[in-house]
Amino acid sequence: MYEGPIQDLIDQLAKLPGLGPKGAQRIAFHLLAGEDVEIDRLTAALVRVRDDVTFCSECGNVAAESLCRICGDARRDATKICVVEEPKDIYAIERTKEFDGRYHVLGGALDPLAGIGPDQLRIRELLRRLADQPDGKDVAEIIVATDPNTEGEATATYLLRMLKDFPGLSVTRLASGLPMGGDLEFADELTLGRALSGRRILV
Ligand SMILES: [Zn+2]
Repeated sequence: MYEGPIQDLIDQLAKLPGLGPKGAQRIAFHLLAGEDVEIDRLTAALVRVRDDVTFCSECGNVAAESLCRICGDARRDATKICVVEEPKDIYAIERTKEFDGRYHVLGGALDPLAGIGPDQLRIRELLRRLADQPDGKDVAEIIVATDPNTEGEATATYLLRMLKDFPGLSVTRLASGLPMGGDLEFADELTLGRALSGRRILV
């Protein structure tokens, strides 16, 4: 529609999730009309995301160092691990202020049609975390907080099968009440907080 660099920018922005052509156009013209320094800051932030973001060696969360802020915090309860699909789900749960344990990021959910099986997720790393505990029972609870949709439920069922034989470990799932078919990140804090405090024991 437009020509030259502005159309290139709109095309690139429109590829981003949640941003249709209209939103892309709005941002592009906002940047064009704005201060140069705004574009400089945005460019620098993008380059830093590409070059400097690493993943926590323990839980798989995005991190600035080898351990993320949560794994590096000795005040967090190490007996509880909340298993989520994506790092953004950690921030959704943190916002509820209902959880003081640690996390484990799977990197997605089981989706055989899209070629995502157990090996494509960080399930092995979770089992290793449980097996590596000095006395084998430091972690007392795994909270499965995968999304309330088909893939999330399939993943929860699979995890339950893998985890049910760990001695002294209870596996819980977020209570129902979350909007079915949705993403955890879209649940409001109150609903998510309630689902967390009312979690049910699977094993
Ligand atoms: Zn971590």
